[in-house]
Parts: sequence; structure tokens; C-alpha cells
Amino acid sequence: ESTTYVDKQKLSFQLRDMQRSKKMMPSARSMQSFREKLPAFKAREEFLKAVAANQVLVISGETGCGKTTQLPQFILEEEIDNLRGADCSIICTQPRRISAISVAARVGSERGEELGETVGYQIRLESKRSTQTRLLFCTTGVLLRKLVQEPDLVGVSHLLVDEIHERGMNEDFLIIILRDLLPRRPDLRLVLMSATINAELFSKYFGDAPIMHIPGFTFPVAELFLEDILEKTQYKIKSERDNFQGNSRKKRLASVKNDPLADVFQDVDINKEYGNYSITTRQSLEAWSVTELDLSLVEGTIEYICRHEGEGAILVFLTGWDEISKLLDKIKGNNLLGNSNKFLVLPLHGSMPTVNQREIFDRAPANMRKIVLATNIAESSITIDDVVYVIDCGKAKETSYDALNKLACLLPSWISKASAHQRRGRAGRVQPGVCYRLYPKVIHDAMPQFQLPEILRTPLQELCLTIKSLQLGAVASFLAKSLQPPDPLSVKNAIELLKTIGALDDLEELTYLGRHLCTLPLDPNIGKMLLIGSVFQCLDPALTIAAALAYRNPFVLPIDRKEEADAVKRSFAGDSCSDHIALLKAFEAWKEAKRSGRERSFCWENFLSPMTLKMMDDMRNQFFDLLSDIGFVSKTRGVKAYNHYGKDLEMVSAVLCAGLYPNVIQCKRRGKRTAFYTKDVGKVDIHPSSVNAGVQQFPLPYLVYSEKVKTASIYVRDSTNISDYALLLFGGSLSPSNTGEGIEMLAGYLHFSAPKRIIELIQC
Ligand code: ADP
Ligand code: MG
Repeated sequence: ESTTYVDKQKLSFQLRDMQRSKKMMPSARSMQSFREKLPAFKAREEFLKAVAANQVLVISGETGCGKTTQLPQFILEEEIDNLRGADCSIICTQPRRISAISVAARVGSERGEELGETVGYQIRLESKRSTQTRLLFCTTGVLLRKLVQEPDLVGVSHLLVDEIHERGMNEDFLIIILRDLLPRRPDLRLVLMSATINAELFSKYFGDAPIMHIPGFTFPVAELFLEDILEKTQYKIKSERDNFQGNSRKKRLASVKNDPLADVFQDVDINKEYGNYSITTRQSLEAWSVTELDLSLVEGTIEYICRHEGEGAILVFLTGWDEISKLLDKIKGNNLLGNSNKFLVLPLHGSMPTVNQREIFDRAPANMRKIVLATNIAESSITIDDVVYVIDCGKAKETSYDALNKLACLLPSWISKASAHQRRGRAGRVQPGVCYRLYPKVIHDAMPQFQLPEILRTPLQELCLTIKSLQLGAVASFLAKSLQPPDPLSVKNAIELLKTIGALDDLEELTYLGRHLCTLPLDPNIGKMLLIGSVFQCLDPALTIAAALAYRNPFVLPIDRKEEADAVKRSFAGDSCSDHIALLKAFEAWKEAKRSGRERSFCWENFLSPMTLKMMDDMRNQFFDLLSDIGFVSKTRGVKAYNHYGKDLEMVSAVLCAGLYPNVIQCKRRGKRTAFYTKDVGKVDIHPSSVNAGVQQFPLPYLVYSEKVKTASIYVRDSTNISDYALLLFGGSLSPSNTGEGIEMLAGYLHFSAPKRIIELIQC
């Protein structure tokens, strides 16, 4: 006891001396003057007092006022200065990987340190920290997994939960746990940080916790809607409109071909009166998708700003990596923007492995204009100070879940008014700015005030597994304590699914499989496909297919060359009757083409997205690391060691069945045609883009599928034809009762002898 006390004293002195000396270094001193100009600096003493006096504190403050970089740092400085350094352990959570890294790096350098000294970060599969680390930035997911080992967060002195206004599922979930935990840890200090949205809601949730507001300052930002932009850019609406009338679509296109803004008019009707035109969408808000057409508009607007507006960086909000990379390509080919050294075009996306920090944050060199192409990560997590022009496409990728039909999808949808306001504000950090909204005012008026919290629009199976692994009791009653409790039907669906796939038993307790799935931060179905794939020696194809399921299908659907694209996909599928095998073969062929340096032409000829394939490749590596992280495979032995049956397509289909179950369709012959039925919604159709569309008779009686979509009727997208054996043996749980005759039959059917691991998995 006494020696540890002495050691701690020593350490606290050491930390204080180090902090003092580093602060005196020239680099830290110049940073200090930047820090002192931030609005958060004026609130320093009041903040520290409030933290000392209250167990829970809610902070609301304008984005960029210094919440994330300053507030945790104030606590750190104060603790170390007061010789409490040894006992202090501050955790600050971030919703995204990239912001955890970026903020840790920034705070480290503000303190004149290397990253990983007193300030570190931890994200999935990656960390930079040491025994000296006292302030750790981590993703919310990492903290949730820490809670499995340490339910009371023993050793943590301060916890700051950032960006709670975004209402992400993990953050909403975390605060339920924290509210229960606080009475058990009276010494723990909790700070909830949010942009200036909804602070009262959180304060109420924590028994009227005090709210501290940090005022911020932004310059006025002018706002232009699509109609204003079209007018401002002097698009000759009147004459063009005359051209439109009575002309065929083709002619119309030809007549306006050289104008970057022209494409927009395909979707817009303009009122007869010039000067008093209101733009109405042709069908509904949905008709306004962010497609390639709109990217020309983005490009046109960037070009306009560069030609006619003053200095200042441009920040473009897009929905995802795909659009960012397409726009990057477009810009490269643009005469004005592409081949000149006057423009610095930088992508910024949440799952980018690394960012060139300095380039994003630093001012561009003289005579150069910085153009940042970002997703909604730049809305509040990352603040780029020198932005003067914001271009907002008005959309963000959003998951949605229809509990009744068990339909889930991730699609670009309209942002909320709150987000639109937030995006606009990004243009006014250093001087008055302009926000170009690439949608008509009528759409803005129709946007919802706030976005629905993620917990209300997402399938809940992954969350339910986490609740089980944290031993938080019955799922339904736990989730009922949420800030906004999810639909009981969604909870029921999730539990049922987990039982069906064998992750939970009848008493809702974790099975052996369930316990493995908990350790994988993945959708349970995808996790199961990887586990079964490695056990059954099909790891390579399982990784590829899982990556496509977790991210997206690499095949692109060109509207004008649909037949050719379908034919290509069919040729990849061969006679497998499987979209999944088609994408697997396409991925393998891409790898081959890449080796021989023919990547670009290969993708072009085969209607494949190089960006998606690249992302899938990265994800494959990540998934393999995850499996090795939980001890399921050995990293040094590599994927090959778990891929003995990787070329056996029958086996691959069986693994697919294990992963996709209970998404099963029965194929029933009706005269010359085949009809398709699922257990939960009855009759469905095969999506026209599937290689199985139009197949008269399938060799095997069942299909498994990865996704349902609802348009005119319910369609299944990608599917694979499987046998009744595969379904019998791999569908559902691997419990002895379900596998019937069991392992002998399975081994006989698959022509191999069962490895020990399977027997374990079945017997436990
Ligand atoms: P908030 O969390 O309140 O939105 P931040 O703490 O993220 O604000 O940012 C405060 C200021 O620090 C902003 O002006 C921002 O541009 C700047 N900043 C943050 N991270 C970096 C970085 N990595 N490099 C340079 N400046 C940064
Ligand atoms: Mg922040």
C-alpha cells in the first residue's frame, strides 16, 4: 500500500513537471495563443468548477467553439497541475473512428507531445496509447466493449460523451447504461457534449443535470437555393425552356449538353413565369436522388465559385465515399479545376483509414484554393476553419427499418433542417460566407425538423447481442429505459432473429455461438458467416461475400447499358444460380486483373466499381484481423490455412446459407413458371437485376437471399440457390436437436471429415 502511494506521488510530480516543461516549448506556445482565442477558453474556470461540483454536466456549444479539443484537455491540465495525475484517467468518446484519431493528434500536439504519451486513442483494431496515457479518445463502440470487462468502469475518473446531439444508436445506448452506473460510482464524473441542439432533453434524462452553454460566434452566411443558384449562374432559363417545349428528350439533352447545370432540368418543372418561377419536383421528394446527374451540378457550382467568387475554401457535403470519388474523378477531368496547380482537392470520409491532418486543417498555400469533399462528418465532428463556401447536396446516408416487413436499408435521404442549418454554419468561421443548397426551397421547407434517432430506425439485433453480453437483463425492459424507446415490434424481431440463428437459446441466454458473435463488432448474420466460413475451411470466399454484404455490391447498374451489364454478371455466375457467387468470382477476377495492371479497363468492361472493390478488399483484411483478435484464426497462418474448401462452390453455398438464414425462399413450380415464397411475408419476386431473374426452373428447391426491398411488390435482391440438405444442416442453430442425425451426415454430405472445432461448436 505505502509503496504504491509513494510511487503514485512520484508519478504525479513527474507528470506535472513534464506538463510544465512541454508547455514552454515554442511549438506549444504558438498553439496556446490559438487555444486562448477559442470561446471554450473563456469558459475554462466555470467548466472546471461545474465538473467538480456535479456528477453529470451537459455542455452545449456551437460547433467549433472548442468542446472536443479543449474541455477534456482542461480537465487533464487541472488534474496534473494539482498532482492528481497518477489517479486521473479521462475517456472521451467519439462516434467515428476518424474523429477519435484526429482529435487525439490535435490535443497531443497542442500539449507539445507525441501522440500516445499523455494523450492517446483507441479504435477498433488500432490504438496509440501507453502507460503514461491519461486522456484517451476512443470510439463509442470501443467503450461499450470495455464495459463488458469492466461494468463499473473502475479506474476511469472522467467520462466525456461527445456528439450526443447526433442521436447515434451507440450513444443513446451508452447513456442508458451510464444512468444505471452512476449511483454505483459516485466519484465518476460524466460530461455530455452536444452541438446547440436538444440539450434539455439530455439534462432531463439525467434528473435535471445542469446545462452549461458555451457561446460561439459565426459570421452571417448567405443562403442560396437551387432556383437562386440557377439564376445567379446566369443560366439562360427562358430560352432553354423554350427549347425544352415540344422537343424530344434526346434533342433536349443535345441542346444543353455543354452546360453543367442542364441535367438538373430533367427532373424539374419550371413555372411559366420567368422571374417568378417556383421549382417543383416532378414526383415527390424521393424523385430527387443524388445521382451522377447532380454531381454535374456540384461540379458546375464549384466551377462557378472558382471563377466568380473571392478567396476561401469550399466545403462540399456529399453522401458517401462513392460520390466523393466520382466527383474527384470528374474534377480531374475538368479543364478549369483538373490540370492546374491552383486547386487542392481533398476527400474527407468517416472510414478513411488515415487523413492527411495538416492538409485538411491548414490554410491552402497562397494562390491555391482548398476544396474539401466530405460526408456529414464535417457537419459537426470536424471543423475546418477557413471554409467560406459550403455546397450542400442536402442528403446523407441513413439506415431505415420497417419492422412490419422486416425490411432494412441504407440509402441517401434528405437531411433534417437542423443538419442543414449546421452545414450552412460551417461557412462562417472566419468571414461572412455563402451556402449553396443544391435543392429547391420547397424541399428545404419539407425537411423534418430533426432526424429520427438511429435507435428508432435500425434493426436491433447487434444491439440486443451487446445487451446480452453486458448482462443487462431482459432486452425489452432494458431498452424501455431509452431516451426514446424503440418500437417493441423491432425488439421482438431482433430477439426472434437471434434465437433463429442460434445466438440466443429459448430462455434468451447467449449460446456458445452467441458468445462468439458478441465479440465481433459486426451484424450477427455476417459474423456467423465468417465463423462458419473459417470453421468449414471456406474463409476466403466467406470474407469476400461478407465484405460485400457489409458494404455494398460491387456491380454497378448503368441505366443505358443494362443488358450488357446483366450479361456480364451472368457470365461470372456461370451455372451457379447465385448472385453471391457472381460477385465472388468478379472479386477474384479483379484481384487477378490488378496483379497484371489491368484494373481500370477490367472494371470498365465488367461494370464493376473499383472503389467498392477496393473497400471490400480493405474490409476483408479487417474482418480477418477481427477473427484473429478473438482467437478464431491465427494471423500468422493467414487466410490460406482456413480455405481448404474455398473452391468448392457447394460448400460455399452452404456457408452462405448459414450466414443468410432465415432469409430463405421456397421455389414452387406453378405450371411452367416458378413462384417464390418466404415464411414471414409470403409471396415475393426476384429483383430484375439478379442473375436468378427469369430463371424458369431452379436445380435446387430453395434460395437464400441477402436483402428484401419494397417497391411495387416485395423483391429480393441478391440470392443463391441452395439444396434442402444445406438448409437442413446449416439453417438455424447448430444445436444437436437442429442438426438431427448430426455431424456424420453433414460430413458425409460435404465429403470431408469434421474438424474438432465444429464438434465443439455443436456440443457446447
Ligand atoms: P467543437 O468540438 O466545439 O466543435 P473542436 O474542439 O473540434 O470544436 O475545434 C476547435 C477548433 O480547433 C476549431 O477551430 C478547429 O478547426 C480546430 N481544430 C480541431 N482539430 C484540429 C486539427 N487536427 N488541426 C487543426 N485545427 C484543429
Ligand atoms: Mg466536437
